[in-house]
Amino acid sequence: MTGTRKLAVLTSGGDSAGMNAAVRAAVRAALAAGAEVFGVREGLQGLVDGGELIQSLTSADVSGILQLGGTDLGTARSDDFRTRDGRRRAAHNLVERGVDGLVVIGGDGSLTGADLFRREWPALLDELVAAGELAPEAAADHHELGLVGLVGSIDNDMVGTDMTIGADTALHRIIEAVDAIQSTASSHQRTFVIEVMGRRCGYLALMGSLAAGANFVLIPENPPADGWEDTMCDVLSGGRKIGRRASVVLVAEGVVDRHGNPITAHDVRTVLEERLGEDTRVTTLGHVQRGGSPTAFDRYLGTVLGHAATTHLLATDPGAEPQLVGIRGHRVVTSPLMECVEATRSIADVISSNDIDRAMALRGSSFTSSFELLRTLVPVRPREEPDGTPPRRLGVLHAGAPAPGMNAAVRVIVRVAMARGHRIVGLVDGFRGLIDDDTTELGWMSVSGWSARPGAELGTSRRLPEPDDFDRIADTIARHRLDGLVVVGGWTAYQGANRLIGDAARAAGIDVPIVCLPATINNDVPGTDLSIGSDTALNNIIVDVDKIKESAVASQRCFVVEVMGRDSGYLALMSGLATGAERVYLPEDGISLDRLQADLATLRAGFELGKRRGLVVRSEHADPLYTTEFISALFEHESGGDFDVRGAILGHVQQGGSPSPFDRIQASRLAADAIGRLLDALDRGDRSSHMFGHVDGSIVTTPLERFPELVEAGAHRPSATPWWMDLRPLAEQMATARPSEGC
Ligand code: ADP
Repeated sequence: MTGTRKLAVLTSGGDSAGMNAAVRAAVRAALAAGAEVFGVREGLQGLVDGGELIQSLTSADVSGILQLGGTDLGTARSDDFRTRDGRRRAAHNLVERGVDGLVVIGGDGSLTGADLFRREWPALLDELVAAGELAPEAAADHHELGLVGLVGSIDNDMVGTDMTIGADTALHRIIEAVDAIQSTASSHQRTFVIEVMGRRCGYLALMGSLAAGANFVLIPENPPADGWEDTMCDVLSGGRKIGRRASVVLVAEGVVDRHGNPITAHDVRTVLEERLGEDTRVTTLGHVQRGGSPTAFDRYLGTVLGHAATTHLLATDPGAEPQLVGIRGHRVVTSPLMECVEATRSIADVISSNDIDRAMALRGSSFTSSFELLRTLVPVRPREEPDGTPPRRLGVLHAGAPAPGMNAAVRVIVRVAMARGHRIVGLVDGFRGLIDDDTTELGWMSVSGWSARPGAELGTSRRLPEPDDFDRIADTIARHRLDGLVVVGGWTAYQGANRLIGDAARAAGIDVPIVCLPATINNDVPGTDLSIGSDTALNNIIVDVDKIKESAVASQRCFVVEVMGRDSGYLALMSGLATGAERVYLPEDGISLDRLQADLATLRAGFELGKRRGLVVRSEHADPLYTTEFISALFEHESGGDFDVRGAILGHVQQGGSPSPFDRIQASRLAADAIGRLLDALDRGDRSSHMFGHVDGSIVTTPLERFPELVEAGAHRPSATPWWMDLRPLAEQMATARPSEGC
């Protein structure tokens, strides 16, 4: 079976950030495979109108769009495409160019329309032949249309993929707005009701609430029961009484109550004003949520899926069943397109029929558990529901460098434990607090607002517990009657925790179970695909690299950007992929002189052909000798005068800033799971220690004592090859498919 050799790509329906990444990758993957690829402007309408709107693309045509929001190809709603005549014209426009493969990036409407088009294709060609508009040979050569769908939608409502292209960026926009509103709300002691998009799906409202620490949320999957107004007023007025200055309610557009009556943000405001006399304002975020530069995740997702879509189309017979290409964890998955569309629509029907349990279940376990977690977190004090077990006291500490999301984790640890009747003791400045007995009792309201806070409120340090410290640590644990420890941090945290479960520590009387939560921007600890903080760091990097690239519009310049990561190349590789770097130097590979010379030759050839900009990303520990300074000097000296070179070491901006939505959500969900499992284990008398992490989209635990065997000797990274290293060929292909252009 052979696939198509000429294909077209288009974006359709509502625009979403990351569509450009998908188009760029689809085009470059096609060109790399020797196929011809056409870009269709203005979505399905462009297919109908043809002419200038369908153009053969070069690699250069899709350069410089990776960081742009919206869709560079343009999109439109098309009434013409809904008609058979319109689709016949569309078929003509494609077949006359020899195109018989289509990548459609859009929502369920666009994918449905494209599938209808594909099914009608043979008949449409017959009609064109009968009308004398198409040569019979052309119809015979392209008698089937291959179709692959990618979901570009901010709603994240499609079956067949964990995430849709654009949802993560929309969450960023929501969190930026809610954080900003929280600060003005708190200045004036106001309540804000914020409406977010999501007519048929509460993903943005739910995850936005979890990430931003909203006080109440209304989503379509869980229409509020009669009396919801009382519950909401109790939660908000209770908060005021104990000194909360800002209250935020998030409402998904299209929420209805259990009788099908719409509840608008204005209805919520009226309730709050009438019942509580609160000064309440409504903010409808609207199209702000669609806009702006795509996040690192959406650039990665668009790139991976765009590449997979083209590759699939080129490898399969055009008559094969069309597929939706999506992501599960970090794996690209394909599923029958129309089954996904139909399953998605059936969820909407279940929601309309008020079958709440099914609607929630159909959204998946992480949606349901996030909703349950939110219910635990939003009350103003722990619900009086101790779980009947003896009250426990657990210590929580950080170690190593601060990572964005550490505070979000502590907030959830405190509240989930307190909701079950237990207490949390904060240990100040990491293991030092444990050694010096420097503690702080953490209460329900003392962690209020922590999910958005950068840094580590409890303090953190690089101090590792030494054998000489063990007696003092045992004393601190005994004095505070700690039943267990939760260590939230990176390499230092894992290493330190591992020492505390060793024989010497036990001999000194340290005998508590320990759980470790991965929180480091380096993403270098074992037992997890991703660590808390790395998504924020990645976004910090790409924002800065975008600016650095923009600074070179007029000159022929190559940048060598150094990013953090210690012995892990995660930040370098992923930021290189998300910013279109042509070379990425990783500590896993090292740097050789041969490699530098080859890269220099490629750069020189590119600039000689008219390339205006170059970008190389170097991980801080890629090589001890070939430093960023050295590489910059070498490239500049050997540039032959065709380009100049600037080095940029991004430094600690990467560790700072408010955590990204993903880091807040991942921190919250991991923390809730870890504390729940630790408490359950204590009840069972199980005192084992674990590392918690996310692997392939699920929360997993690994025995802590396995830490030494799971890491590479002499380096700070896991010994197993991480999932993201598989992206190296893709990063290279995206960069090398275009000898003559910029990023
Ligand atoms: P989205 O793709 O974001 O769901 P729409 O539902 O507006 O956006 O669909 C985009 C376009 O897809 C429509 O303007 C129309 O041209 C086409 N389309 C949608 N549904 C159909 C259909 N059932 N038959 C033919 N074309 C359709």
